[in-house]
Amino acid sequence: MAVYKSKGIVLRSIRYGEADRILDLYTRDAGLVSAIVKGIRRTKSRFGARLEPLSCVDFVAYRGRTLDTLTQAETLRSFHGIREDLARFEAAAGMVGSVRALSGGDEADRRVFNLLYKGLDALEGAESGFQAIEAALGLKLSILAGYAPQLDVCLACETDLEDAAEPLHFAPQLGGVLCAECRSMTGEAFPLAPGTLGRLRALIEGPIRDAPTQSGLGESVLRVVRSHVLAHAPGTTLSGPRLTATTRRPA
Ligand SMILES: [Zn+2]
Repeated sequence: MAVYKSKGIVLRSIRYGEADRILDLYTRDAGLVSAIVKGIRRTKSRFGARLEPLSCVDFVAYRGRTLDTLTQAETLRSFHGIREDLARFEAAAGMVGSVRALSGGDEADRRVFNLLYKGLDALEGAESGFQAIEAALGLKLSILAGYAPQLDVCLACETDLEDAAEPLHFAPQLGGVLCAECRSMTGEAFPLAPGTLGRLRALIEGPIRDAPTQSGLGESVLRVVRSHVLAHAPGTTLSGPRLTATTRRPA
């Protein structure tokens, strides 16, 4: 029975049987993990009311064939402020969706764990610009996963996008931008609102906590990021960018 200790962020918590829960966690040392927590829904459970979605926990678990079993957990950060606010929570659900989509398999990547933690920290601390934080996380995660979007030159004619014919179009399946003359290359390209490219570049270059300063064009930026993430999710079915159906929101 292999026991291990790690830190993890709760992505999802599902009721199981009479008193148990199954958690999906993104862990620092073991990547995506599903673990059962026995007896957590009993009033005398030693886990108490902890282990809410989005909380970051220090935990001990032992490995199972399909499901690990969590035996101890201590909350390091609850990110309570995110769960209490709908706009913040929706952005967090989008971030969780991106992590699930782009980090399949059990390969651990501490950079993904750190990025998600920093993203949640930024979201809880920010007064506005939540969409920009979600977009920044999606972009940075795509780059970690090896799917950096091509934002410098047209994918087809390779004209520098600073000089290319407008309106520019984003082609999610191709992972980049087409100029107005090349946009008919794929039926799936959609036009970018002027200025979107600059926002995307700034979100990639800056730290995630500074994303709210790039909060203009939120819808246009987020459309690019979500379509890009979805197009590059390796074989997983992403149940939409908003996971409100599976991530419980407090009343
Ligand atoms: Zn072109």
